[in-house]
Amino acid sequence: MEKTNKPKNAKFAAFLKKNLYLILMIVCVIAIATMVAVTYAIRQKNAGDAVDVAAKEQPTIQDTTPTIDANAEPTTTNPVTEPTVSDEVLFSLPLEGETVGVFANDTLVYNATLNQWATHEAYDVAAETGTEVKCVYDGKVESITTSVLRGTEVVVLHKNGMKTIYSLLGSDVNVSVGADVKKGDVIGKIAETGTFEKHKGPHLHLEVWNEAGEKVDPTLFFESTDK
Ligand SMILES: [Zn+2]
Repeated sequence: MEKTNKPKNAKFAAFLKKNLYLILMIVCVIAIATMVAVTYAIRQKNAGDAVDVAAKEQPTIQDTTPTIDANAEPTTTNPVTEPTVSDEVLFSLPLEGETVGVFANDTLVYNATLNQWATHEAYDVAAETGTEVKCVYDGKVESITTSVLRGTEVVVLHKNGMKTIYSLLGSDVNVSVGADVKKGDVIGKIAETGTFEKHKGPHLHLEVWNEAGEKVDPTLFFESTDK
């Protein structure tokens, strides 16, 4: 047994000695390959994280971009500035005179002529019969009507969609339907033609309608503080 084993062991030892460098090289190659593989794996993982970060950042950038666009759109629609233009509308006074009626759309005002309480969504200025009534803002004459209650009434449509209504005028108006009128142009004259506010004496009953057709306080638009 020993005789047979010894040569085998000797052969194995000899094999080891002979191939020691080869075995070491194989072990080294395996070790290097393992290190390379691990390093590569780590790099892949880091790269993946970096991609994740980039992926997280990109939507944020995309979120920001539409937000900027959303902000930019109202800015581009703002130049229309309709509310601003409405705010900048300045009326000249239709005539000089004593205020005999103020705008009251949430309180009832007693109307002695009609013997009833009602809102008064207009501005009344007293003046002698024959006093000229001037257009308060550039526009176009939309209608001229005459009724027992409101006398002769001129409606002027303005560029911004607003309307000014001049009631209790004499029938001898200075304008015609469709005519362009400028701020300060004479529209007509004060007369005691209408009856619905006769108790106030001769005066202009001025109404202002906004674009929506709602009656608004005319004094909000007067450029003069002398109301
Ligand atoms: Zn009135």
